[in-house]
Amino acid sequence: MLICGFNKTTLLDYPEHVAATVFLGGCNFRCPFCQNRDLLLNPADFATFTEEDIFNHLKKRRSMLSGVCVSGGEPTIYKNLPDFLARIKDLDYLIKLDTNGTNPDMLKSLYDAHLIDYIAMDIKSGPSDYARVAGFLELEDSIFTASGQNLLKNVRESVDFLINGTDSSRFTYEFRTTVVRELHSLESFREIGTWIKGASRYYLQSYKDSEHVLCPGFHAYSKAELEGFADFLRPMIPSVSLRGVD
Ligand code: SF4
Repeated sequence: MLICGFNKTTLLDYPEHVAATVFLGGCNFRCPFCQNRDLLLNPADFATFTEEDIFNHLKKRRSMLSGVCVSGGEPTIYKNLPDFLARIKDLDYLIKLDTNGTNPDMLKSLYDAHLIDYIAMDIKSGPSDYARVAGFLELEDSIFTASGQNLLKNVRESVDFLINGTDSSRFTYEFRTTVVRELHSLESFREIGTWIKGASRYYLQSYKDSEHVLCPGFHAYSKAELEGFADFLRPMIPSVSLRGVD
């Protein structure tokens, strides 16, 4: 497990909780707008924390923190993620997992084992455009063996599991889309709205440019344009709201 970042205290990553966030390197997507280019392409170069660093801090700060957010990269590419989360649970923390949804079997087994309390899952775009927006095309002939279609099938399975297979009395999920002017249109949201209709939480996050973006040159929509997408989605997903928009 490559631990490439550790935010010791955050009020932003775990809704309604003071949390710490662990960033794991590596991902099976290549979203061109990804903000974590270094974690994606050279994770070993940035693996500056050991698991013991994390657990020493979590033990020390138990009275101040209530949750741990595990983010990436894509955390579920690590087969030993369940063991890592079990150690966090042993310290009696709530756990939020950020995921692209490509490993539904792991999500289900983590849920069944009560090792996660919150999942935030990315919806990159409507199914017809997923390959382009998640960068599947870049993955052909790469070290990753699953084809783009299998990845999309897995994403669909995770969506279905979160909407229909989880108990809201003990578990929370959200879907979220980073909205990029060059990659998303009203048609994207028509597809997404039909797909995740009835989702309990859905956020539209504005793209933010930075020097760490995988493929520079993208732009954000204005707040008014994002509100227009949210209004369009609301008949299908009443919970939709904007996040991170000034
Ligand atoms: S934005 Fe895409 S490429 Fe970047 S970590 Fe998330 S899923 Fe992976």
